Amino acid sequence: MRVKRNPSISNISPRYLFPEIQQQTHTFLQRHPQADLIDLGIGDTTLPLPSFVAQKMSEKAASLATTAGYQGYGPPQGSPELQKKIAEQLYHGCVDPEEIFISDGAKCDIGRLHYLFGPDTAIAVQDPAYPVYGETYLLSGKSLPIDLMPCLPENDFFPTLPPAADIIYFCSPNNPTGIAATKKQLEELIAFARDHDILIIFDAAYSCFIQDPQLPQSIYEIEEARHVAIEVGSFSKIAGFTGLRLGWTVVPKELRFHDGTPVAQDWKRIVSTCFNGASLLSQSGGIAVLEDHAFLEIQQLTDYYLKNGMLLKKAFCALGFETYGGENAPYVWVKLPEKTSWQGFHAFLEKTRIVSVPGSGFGPAGEGFLRFSSFANRSAVEKAVERLKSFSL
Ligand code: PLP
Repeated sequence: MRVKRNPSISNISPRYLFPEIQQQTHTFLQRHPQADLIDLGIGDTTLPLPSFVAQKMSEKAASLATTAGYQGYGPPQGSPELQKKIAEQLYHGCVDPEEIFISDGAKCDIGRLHYLFGPDTAIAVQDPAYPVYGETYLLSGKSLPIDLMPCLPENDFFPTLPPAADIIYFCSPNNPTGIAATKKQLEELIAFARDHDILIIFDAAYSCFIQDPQLPQSIYEIEEARHVAIEVGSFSKIAGFTGLRLGWTVVPKELRFHDGTPVAQDWKRIVSTCFNGASLLSQSGGIAVLEDHAFLEIQQLTDYYLKNGMLLKKAFCALGFETYGGENAPYVWVKLPEKTSWQGFHAFLEKTRIVSVPGSGFGPAGEGFLRFSSFANRSAVEKAVERLKSFSL
């Protein structure tokens, strides 16, 4: 056909990280068809949905099959009831419901946010980071070099902030390192953004895993953040909605572009232009998750995964590995002595049948690390811990 390919596609790696891992695992299984693999790789949730959430969604589905209960398109910005619940339960009133835009997931909004920004917008991302920030930037046709901000044990995983970037992406707790930024670090980030007149896109997809009350769960816990930060959130990891799809983005009223246009005004326009709101069923599930009694029950899911993380972390420490994360996040970040990430990936696969994620897939500063996910069933984690006892690189 005469249609030309989007040239930006060739600016990103031909394969996303997780299909690459699946391919490597598949090749291994062809050589060892009997291998009993333990998947601590892709960070997908494994516990079933709480039954009251499923119940609420099935009630909603049944009402859609009645004349009185049928609903078509909802408001593009999402259900006002859900906006209100998020504002109350997750932001304790420091964000207004109308500043919350309900989405079909954080990843989708991270992609759509690029519509907001001009072609010469320069971005900086943590290194290592969730690859979606940089890849969607490139896919959107913007092509300035991406500033990588190394986050390593040597700098307490808090980078030197680059003055040249217009937007800094910051994820806390971070995927893949599992490190949650301290209040002081986030104050530094916000002060930097204020001083340099730049925007922060704060990814709080894992905020519900933060246990230490001293660590902020939202960027809006930091004074002045409303003037410089957009926050992206998700029900995926809070409540096992990875398949259902539900998230949100907070765009505070104070945020303005260089020419004075309110950012929320443009975001509203974009959301109603290329998205028509999240599924009514997912939103009814989201409302159920945030009911007072339910929210406590939901925290049991988080606790379960965190216990997995502690078991894994202990096992790696007993083997003498330097390990990070796993306490306020569902990922354990393991340093490999004198091995590349892919060498480590294959060593663990061959010797323990455990699937991990090579740190180098998240950026050059991830080289020499592996990420192990806590999103597994306890029996699988216990089996992994047993196998690790006799492991050596
Ligand atoms: N942000 C980070 C840092 C993630 O690791 C993920 C998923 O793994 C997402 C966002 C995507 O969340 P969602 O399922 O809401 O699209």
